[in-house]
Amino acid sequence: MLKFHRIIVLFAIIMVLTIVSGFFTPIHYLVYVSIAAIPVIIVVFGSARVCSGLYLESYCTAKNKGRVLGLTFDDGPDSRTTPLILDILKEHDIHAAFFCTGEKAEKDPGLIRRIDSEGHIIGNHSYSHHFFFDLFSEKKMTSDVMKSDSVVSGILGKKMKLFRPPYGVTNPVLARVLKKSGHRVIGWSLKSYDTKNTGKEKLLKRLVSKIRSGGIILFHDDRILTAEVLHEFINAARSKNYRFERPDWLLNIEPYE
Ligand SMILES: [Zn+2]
Repeated sequence: MLKFHRIIVLFAIIMVLTIVSGFFTPIHYLVYVSIAAIPVIIVVFGSARVCSGLYLESYCTAKNKGRVLGLTFDDGPDSRTTPLILDILKEHDIHAAFFCTGEKAEKDPGLIRRIDSEGHIIGNHSYSHHFFFDLFSEKKMTSDVMKSDSVVSGILGKKMKLFRPPYGVTNPVLARVLKKSGHRVIGWSLKSYDTKNTGKEKLLKRLVSKIRSGGIILFHDDRILTAEVLHEFINAARSKNYRFERPDWLLNIEPYE
């Protein structure tokens, strides 16, 4: 049984037992409110964290791999920033995972081919990356995910097997969609916060201080800040004796069907 269902069943049982007890001894109304509120809080926080495992299993870190890191880039390809990032990765001989949106891939197939030909892998990050993707019906969500698969397979001739949820949000609908489509979810263990305007130095300092063995790091290749910090980040991680491995090798999973 999924964690989500177990939590709902557990709190339903607790609520029934509390109501029954209420017939024999006075129970403060706040006890009932708390029993109702706790699963809601768990579900809200669990949905917002891709690695919570509340609805589906996801790969977020590599265990027992030593001082090795995997780089992932979301929301591209972007004609302005993705080539800069690819140049830096090539210079350092690092292979990464790019979770592209189908809509952007469709607009720039040449960049998708370049990412692939330089030894990186491409994963599905939905077609639309719609703000309300998580509220889509099962049918609409399935169509969005499959459309992205079809765009990339039309360019590269291979079907993506890895999926990263837009905004890192998961829910029961997405769990059903991905179970049917056969995608595996890749999360992260360290978020770079390159989408926030924190400034290069602050971002770099925080990121370097938080790297851990087997970590999967989330960047965005449509951000100029990412291109600005990447070279220094790689050097700083290597100076701490970390090496980089392509995320699918690190996690021991197949990226394509
Ligand atoms: Zn995204």
